[in-house]
Amino acid sequence: MPAYDPDNIFAKILRGELPCHKVYEDDKALGFLDIMPRAPGHALVLPKAPARNILDVSPDDLAHVMKVAQKVAQAGMQVFRADGVTVQQFNEAAGGQVVFHIHVHVIPRKQGVPLKPPATVKEAPEVLADQARQLAAALR
Ligand code: 5GP
Repeated sequence: MPAYDPDNIFAKILRGELPCHKVYEDDKALGFLDIMPRAPGHALVLPKAPARNILDVSPDDLAHVMKVAQKVAQAGMQVFRADGVTVQQFNEAAGGQVVFHIHVHVIPRKQGVPLKPPATVKEAPEVLADQARQLAAALR
């Protein structure tokens, strides 16, 4: 497996070099909205420590990220009046991974509404800002 690339886009977000619509932060993890959501409220949760994916992340960071993903899932159910939640996590290109800093997708779902295809439509920044504000409030 290739080495962790510190210039991947999520590493830049973690360093504050690129913006994000933040929904959650603690000392070990960050949560923000996906800019090309597959459904309204599609969030990403990642550890702050560098790790490429499930193959090299520390077990403690992985466990913490899943704890945060659970909180984000619960908040997403409420804020987006969802009927369910899809949680996804991809590893290496062959496993569907595109950004190589480990992250968990948390996607609120409505009954009968299919997911949009991945990385297709960029959501308007003002929509993401409003959704992030609501999700962050529910996570406080
Ligand atoms: P994966 O690596 O798990 O396949 O997916 C990467 C995800 O990151 C995609 O859902 C894509 O829409 C999202 N993404 C790509 N670039 C950015 C970005 O600059 N900011 C945010 N918030 N999400 C991004």
